[in-house]
Amino acid sequence: MSWRFFEPPKLFFGENALFENGHLMRELGRKAVITTGKSSSRNGSLDDLKDVLDEQGVEYEIYNRVGENPSFDMLRNARKLFQGKSVDFVIGLGGGSPMDFAKALAILLSNPDLEVEEIYNASKYDKMLPVVEIPTTSGTGSEVTQYSVITSDEGYKGGFGTDFTFPTISFADPRYTVTMPTDLTMSTGIDALCHAIEGFVSRRSNRMVQMMASEAVNLIRDNLEMAMKYPDNLEVRERMMYASTLAGVVIAQSGTTVNHAFGYPVTTFKGVRHGQATGMFLIETLKVMMEENGQVVREAIKPFGDVENLEKFLEKLGVYNANITISDEDIENWSKRTSKAKHLKVTYGNFDYDTVRSIYEKVREKL
Ligand code: NAP
Ligand code: FE
Repeated sequence: MSWRFFEPPKLFFGENALFENGHLMRELGRKAVITTGKSSSRNGSLDDLKDVLDEQGVEYEIYNRVGENPSFDMLRNARKLFQGKSVDFVIGLGGGSPMDFAKALAILLSNPDLEVEEIYNASKYDKMLPVVEIPTTSGTGSEVTQYSVITSDEGYKGGFGTDFTFPTISFADPRYTVTMPTDLTMSTGIDALCHAIEGFVSRRSNRMVQMMASEAVNLIRDNLEMAMKYPDNLEVRERMMYASTLAGVVIAQSGTTVNHAFGYPVTTFKGVRHGQATGMFLIETLKVMMEENGQVVREAIKPFGDVENLEKFLEKLGVYNANITISDEDIENWSKRTSKAKHLKVTYGNFDYDTVRSIYEKVREKL
């Protein structure tokens, strides 16, 4: 068995991680752009970041218009504002959306001739400004991955991720996540669960990654419901953040499977959050993967015992509670795309058009 493990970011984890280690940002330059949403001004993270940057004498501009599922248009807009302004590095502050956005903006700012639509094609560029990531959700693991997911003008999610698109430094402080409401806690935690399980069963996985994935699955099984019930419990929040960071390290090595591709149109066209939209397909996609490699799937979900128990867990947390209508035409369009997803290269099982279609139909019945 041959494999590699590549995890370049310097990660600082735990309460006050930013205060204690924020001085390292000074090495990245004198001027930063902070990409964020609106919630960072309500969970204390933006104030902390501003304090640290002020103390270090780093100048910054704040771009706080990053919405959920960042799009090409948001990128065009931000690029216009900051191109040619001697920006040295980009800080992504928030959930996966602002963190992914930071990576994409950092690429555009250091490759002025690159068209925004070319960003999915990493062979078109070879550099990126340094990126700092500060998560305020426990889900995507973007603080330790090379990936960035951006929605195209047509409404489809696509992404990039290569060796030089990892963040340079990340500060993961669970204090910033206590303000997450129940449904967001659920969705982001399920995203992390999918990363751990999908990363475990990926064809690109290895024993080292699987060890981390199992730890993440255990932590999520034991803590996600508690985090939903007791949002202020910092210890539980810390365990969820640890799980999501671990799961991020896992997918940085082995990638996600086609299960992630199933959820993308449900998010962009029906407005269901990323983690929930991904989690609702997990059982049906795992069943198909089991047809080719039952052993790896059984090992991945061992903390739950079997697929039935995993499904009960998802049901109990509300993963199937989505108030949406999916038409036959939606299923036809989505199936065409998902049955050609690039994730298929690393996914066990035969996900041809008919199989994909039947999975969409089965999940529609569950909602
Ligand atoms: P998100 O889209 O970043 O944020 C979802 C919502 O949560 C927003 O309304 C946001 O508000 C709010 N929010 C964020 N932190 C909060 C807090 N501490 N308290 C209260 N509200 C808070 O959610 P996400 O699930 O973290 O990220 C999803 C995105 O990441 C998707 O685009 C997905 O495709 C991508 N993703 C990336 C990777 C990767 O490896 N890079 C992996 C999986 C998914 P504001 O907007 O006002 O801040
Ligand atoms: Fe995800």
